[in-house]
Amino acid sequence: MINFTYVRTTTAKAAVGLLAKEKNAKFIAGGTNLVDLMKRGVTAPDRLIDINAVPLKQIELVGNMMHIGALATNTAVAEHELVKLHFPLLSLALQAGASQQLRNAATVGGNMMQRTRCGYFYDTTMPCNKRAPGTGCGAITGYNRMHAIFGGSEQCIAVHPSDMCIALVALDSTVVLSGPKGERKLKFIDFHKLAGTTPDKDNNLLPGEMIIRVEIPTNKLAAHSYYVKVRDRASYAFALVSVAAGLELQGNKIVDVKLAMGGVAHKPWRLLEAETFLKGKMATEANFKSAAQIAMKNAKAYKENAFKLKMAPNTLIEALNLAKSKA
Ligand SMILES: Cc1cc2nc3c(=O)[nH]c(=O)nc-3n(C[C@H](O)[C@H](O)[C@H](O)COP(=O)(O)OP(=O)(O)OC[C@H]3O[C@@H](n4cnc5c(N)ncnc54)[C@H](O)[C@@H]3O)c2cc1C
Repeated sequence: MINFTYVRTTTAKAAVGLLAKEKNAKFIAGGTNLVDLMKRGVTAPDRLIDINAVPLKQIELVGNMMHIGALATNTAVAEHELVKLHFPLLSLALQAGASQQLRNAATVGGNMMQRTRCGYFYDTTMPCNKRAPGTGCGAITGYNRMHAIFGGSEQCIAVHPSDMCIALVALDSTVVLSGPKGERKLKFIDFHKLAGTTPDKDNNLLPGEMIIRVEIPTNKLAAHSYYVKVRDRASYAFALVSVAAGLELQGNKIVDVKLAMGGVAHKPWRLLEAETFLKGKMATEANFKSAAQIAMKNAKAYKENAFKLKMAPNTLIEALNLAKSKA
């Protein structure tokens, strides 16, 4: 048995202070990912800092910013009236994730921090540069059906698994962090990172930092947003490919558009070039197809996941069509 100590804390300041004191401590929120990783021996913290009593469950509009606390549960966010009204994309993405029971326990901060579902990462008998740097990547020449088609490195082709984060990156969100040096803000697009030469690091959180909340600016995309998730079964499965799409339309003209893809990269994959192409154009099937072509420009498949090269553009076109026709 691997021993660890457990402590509860009630303020963010105390939580950050406790984390700073111990190198191998971890926060625990809903525990739906961390406990699995501990049971499988993928991670072995010496100390768990339970942050559930820290008052970070708020879901509120502050001026033109939606503030969502790091400890708001995935269910609370998905079902909140303000979220459904202003950011249906986020609500849909959350509802596409996991199961109702898991969403009841899972938190916003924990969801952002969840680790990849790559089988080599979870299997401690296998090589994995993300779990054990320097051991190699089992997936690159092995079983790589779920893996990245964008931004892969020679050390890791794992994908980021969250649905919520795909909507949050599309919605131009910001993350508020608290750490030993005080509070700072990070654009959501910069929170997660590509694997590069440090695949063991999933994100740009600095040592000792805690996620406090996410902020989302209001927009005019609500009437035409959609989240499409393609997976092996209808629920309780991670995305093979997913797309978050939001359109602001004047008649059939695209005034604004936000697009992101999941299941395709080590981080939530924003499709900025496709957005630039679509802005100012008509919302037609032909333009959606051209945008999908642009989005796929730098895609690279491995032995088992070449199907994603077709699935990804098709999912993008479907998401755009569904967003357009939603009213
Ligand atoms: C069977 C199964 C199916 C699933 N399917 C999906 C799916 O389809 N889509 C999807 O998106 N997700 C899915 N999930 C993942 C689930 O959404 C995550 O496990 C969950 O969101 C993690 O949240 P948590 O609060 O339980 O985190 P925890 O397990 O408590 O923590 C996870 C990590 O986050 C850190 N952490 C937590 N809060 C903070 C904070 N405020 N600041 C800094 N670090 C923090 C912890 O230290 C830990 O490292 C699935 C999970 C399971 C078990």
